[in-house]
Order: sequence, then C-alpha cells, then structure tokens
Amino acid sequence: MTNVELIDRLEAEDRLAANEWVQLIDSYSTSDREYAAVRAREISHRYFENKVYTRGLIEFTSYCRNDCYYCGIRRSNQSAERYRLTEEQILQCCEEGYRLGFRTFVLQGGEDGYYTDDRIVSIVSKIHTGYPDCAITLSIGEREEESYRRYFDAGANRYLLRHETADREHYGKLHPEEMSFDHRIECLYTLRKIGFQTGCGFMVGSPGQTPETLAQDMLLIRKLHPQMVGIGPFIPHKDTPFRGEAAGTLELTLFLLSLIRIMEKNVLLPATTALGTIAPDGREQGILAGANVVMPNLSPVAVRKKYALYDNKICTGEEAAECRGCLAGRMQRIGYRIVSDRGDWKERKETDGVQV
Ligand code: SAH
Repeated sequence: MTNVELIDRLEAEDRLAANEWVQLIDSYSTSDREYAAVRAREISHRYFENKVYTRGLIEFTSYCRNDCYYCGIRRSNQSAERYRLTEEQILQCCEEGYRLGFRTFVLQGGEDGYYTDDRIVSIVSKIHTGYPDCAITLSIGEREEESYRRYFDAGANRYLLRHETADREHYGKLHPEEMSFDHRIECLYTLRKIGFQTGCGFMVGSPGQTPETLAQDMLLIRKLHPQMVGIGPFIPHKDTPFRGEAAGTLELTLFLLSLIRIMEKNVLLPATTALGTIAPDGREQGILAGANVVMPNLSPVAVRKKYALYDNKICTGEEAAECRGCLAGRMQRIGYRIVSDRGDWKERKETDGVQV
C-alpha cells in the first residue's frame, strides 16, 4: 500500500497495524505529510471549525523528585533554580487569567512532595469555588489512585500525564531504573476510570526513539482513546545527560500531529510551546497540521525562566496578557480564532470512523 492509501485507511478505519505505522513513519515524503495535514485540517474543521481553545498554563513548582534524563528540572540538576508558588500566587494567576478570557487552568509542575494531597485539594477547591465556570487540569505526575480521586472530588476535571514512550525498553533509556513504565501506564488507566478527561503523549525525537517505538505510541493512543494528546519535539537541555542529543524535527512533529488527528478525530490536541521553540511559526504550523489547542503561559514572569524543561524556551519574558495577545494575533493571521470557552471534549460524530 502507498502512504497515501495508508492515510486514507487510517481515516476510514481509525487504525493501522504496527508494521503499517512503521512504514508510514519511516518512509513519508513531504507530499505525504502535506496530504495528511489537509485531511487532518478537514477533520478538525468538522469538529471545531476555526476555533482554537486556550488553556492558561500555571507552572507552579520547579522542584522534582524524579530524575528523567531529558528534563531540565530533574532532581540531579544542581544548576536548576527552584521555586514554588504559594496558593495565593496561584489564585492570582487564575484571577488574571480569568480576566483575560481563559476558562481552563492547567496546573503543571515537577513531582514535588511539598504539595501534599491536602495542599493540592485546597488549591483545586479554591479555584473550583472561585471560578465555577472554568475547567481545572492537573499535570503533576504519578500519584496513587486515592490521591487522584481526592483531586477529582475537589473539582479537577482533566489530567495530563504524557506516557513519554509506549515501548518499555525505550522508557528505560529515558528514565532511571527507579522509575516504572508499568506504573505510569497504570496511572493513565486509573485517571480515565476515575472520570478525568485524560491526556497522554510523548516527545518527538527523544533519544532512542525509532519508527518502531512511535508505532507503539500510536497503538497505545488508539487503545487508550484519551481525550487529549500532548506531543512536542524533544529539545536538549544543557544541564542534562541528553545535552548533546539532537532535537526532534518540526516535520516529524507536524506529521504525527496530523496522524493523531486523523486517527482520533475529536481529540484535544495542543500545538505546544516546544513546537513554537524549534520554529518561529511552529505553533501556527501545528494548528494547520490539525492541532486545536494552545497553552499560553500564565505563570508570574519572575519564575518563568526557572521552569526550564529544555533550552531556549519561548515566552519566558512576557506578561500573560502579552502572551495571549500574541497568540491571538498568530491564530488570526492563519484564519483561526482563539475562543473563551472551556473547550471540553465532545463526543464523536456518529458518521465518523468505525469506533470499536
Ligand atoms: N511532572 C509532570 C509534568 C512534566 S513536564 C509529569 O510527570 O507529567 C511536561 C512534559 O514536558 C513532560 O511530560 C515531557 O514530555 C516534556 N519535556 C520534559 N523535558 C523536555 C525536553 N527536554 N524537551 C521537550 N519536552 C520535554
């Protein structure tokens, strides 16, 4: 089968076999990628028209107990500047964000033991009470089922936990032995079971990634059917073991965004900050490849540079309002518009794909 035929079949049947994914990812041409982008764009228009959802990202702690080889805030990085936002500071970010039109707040951070379940519950409850019309997303890593349940009961609606790679061996090349592939995957199923709109995802071009491991990622996404998928290029950080590795490419990231849109149809799919970091118009290209979400930064400017997962991260010097204005302009110039909407996941159209 040609790559175009594979892309058409993915659209019709929502799935490909592992060897077909490998073929597509290994041998795609520029015109295959453009073809996928056109199909992906048509599907996102069907669900979202020209609307782009925004999420206000609050990076509330740069402390982390984990030691992921790729990440700039890993615990072994002695040069990383550490900070924590107080509950009050987090609520101030929300206040500012609400005024700017955000209706989803994403609380992201390292795995920081300071934020006990009680503290997270307190923060989530206050946001939930203060902004009952807003969605609350957590992205704070692996915790136990009981903790996740408490956050959900306190008012958190969504949870982002990238699986990072669906290939066990590859997972072992990205993380120290103390970190468990099985636990991370289990967390995703637990989050779904509890009722969170759940997001998985991975970095494109992480060291050791191959068409075969990416095929596993696509199969996992198909199996989990998450409401959100976060992917962005891997970008090396100078104070990590991967400092000398190459970054993921714009082209492969765009192609994979399109393939995820074609497979998962109604999934919420961000054009990430990392994509905007490797190319000046990376996020615009991401939207044109089928993404439908952007996540501008709402963190206080004073701490932004300290949440350095990778080098040269964009938008670390601007106020939240500037970031939102800048993105609104960028979207408008490509014919899209940023909306003040919670942007919840919606059921699939019945006529779309086969839904097994
Ligand atoms: N501690 C939370 C949040 C992690 S940060 C958790 O465990 O889920 C969010 C994402 O940033 C990670 O899941 C990872 O995929 C991505 N990331 C980390 N380091 C990166 C790098 N060097 N380049 C690109 N993305 C990176």
